[in-house]
Amino acid sequence: MIDACSQASKPLLSIDDALDRIKAVVNPVNGTEKTELKNALGRVLAEPVYSPINIPHDRNAAMDGYAFASQDIADGQAFTLSLAGISWAGRPFQGQLQPGQCIRIFTGAVVPEQADSVIMQEHVQVQDQTIHFPAGTRAQQNVRKIGEDVKQGACLIAGPKKLTPIDLGLLASAGIDKVVVKRQLKIAYFSTGDELTSLGLPLEHGKIYDSNRIILGGLLTDPGYSVVDLGVIPDNKQLLEDSFIEASKNYDVIITTGGASVGEADYVKEILQSCGEVDFWKIAVKPGKPLAFGKIGQCCFFGLPGNPIAVVVTFHQIVAPALRQLSGAPSFKPLRFTATCTSALKKSPGRQEYQRGILSQDENGEFFVASAGHQGSHILSSMSQSSCYIVLPEACKGVQAGDKVTVEPFSLLL
Ligand code: AMP
Ligand code: MG
Repeated sequence: MIDACSQASKPLLSIDDALDRIKAVVNPVNGTEKTELKNALGRVLAEPVYSPINIPHDRNAAMDGYAFASQDIADGQAFTLSLAGISWAGRPFQGQLQPGQCIRIFTGAVVPEQADSVIMQEHVQVQDQTIHFPAGTRAQQNVRKIGEDVKQGACLIAGPKKLTPIDLGLLASAGIDKVVVKRQLKIAYFSTGDELTSLGLPLEHGKIYDSNRIILGGLLTDPGYSVVDLGVIPDNKQLLEDSFIEASKNYDVIITTGGASVGEADYVKEILQSCGEVDFWKIAVKPGKPLAFGKIGQCCFFGLPGNPIAVVVTFHQIVAPALRQLSGAPSFKPLRFTATCTSALKKSPGRQEYQRGILSQDENGEFFVASAGHQGSHILSSMSQSSCYIVLPEACKGVQAGDKVTVEPFSLLL
């Protein structure tokens, strides 16, 4: 790896370049394991799965009504058929349907071989055992065909894919009860800083509560990841170095927050350089400029900034796509779209900014976004009230109320 930031005069790395560099050096995990389908949600399917059966397995009714043979339709005229029995879902009609007969049938029930049509119950009149079909009754309606969803032997899911509830449903419909998934990505994270106080302890003068670890714990909640919180490490070079080296032996990924900048007590980049390799250090992103990415042995290292909003932004924009790639899941571009900004936004050119906004939609379906307020990288309260990023490109020099901007809803991030 080349240290992109070894020369102080070099321009900051753009976010796209940073993502490309990460893409080039991270390798998806190799191992796989077999898991019960009920435990496979969010795991990355490692192998294609083929259907052992046709779905539907039998011809069945799409409606509650009456099943009949279309030969009995009398030239578009009204006609009557006699009731020969019932086909329930799960309990098929056992007899043979004769010409001039129909059967009562319910949604999902097997359509007898001799029938090819089902009429909705609302369209007939029932008189004891005689069913009156109206003029214009159509043939071959409301019958679900064998294999019309999936043919026997067809690929259900090709993989690799992060399995959704719908995917699990599709696999279950084919009777698949176990799948081969990628092994979990092992991730360790910790906070760095002498000022940090863990929850449950009283706050001394000059200290702050550690909010980053709880944020990271939440952001990393994913069935594809096995995550360990390694606590707080003080601003002590030796302790930090020992922790980095130890963690690099046991995890695929280390994520730290704080100490990544240029202050006297910011050791993260220096230590990464001494015990591993720094790929890049500073990126043209606001908030989140000081971000150290590199490797210690085979372990990927992300040294995120200390300010909580910078942690969230760099996690969403840089770390999350990298973790996806590492876990073997296909890449994913979060949905962005245009909205009219109802606030003026301050911005200096040079870095791509992720301001926090509140998204709304009017009765015509048009999207609007308002600034969530104070945009400081330490201001969690405004981010807690916001629902999207307002993505302002590097060259942007600010936004006037009424301008169009690009938004990225939080709910669509991963
Ligand atoms: P640093 O990058 O270590 O200089 O930290 C930048 C800012 O983020 C400082 O105001 C730190 O106090 C703050 N900070 C660092 N780590 C945390 C944390 N875990 N939780 C909340 N704030 C933090
Ligand atoms: Mg610090």
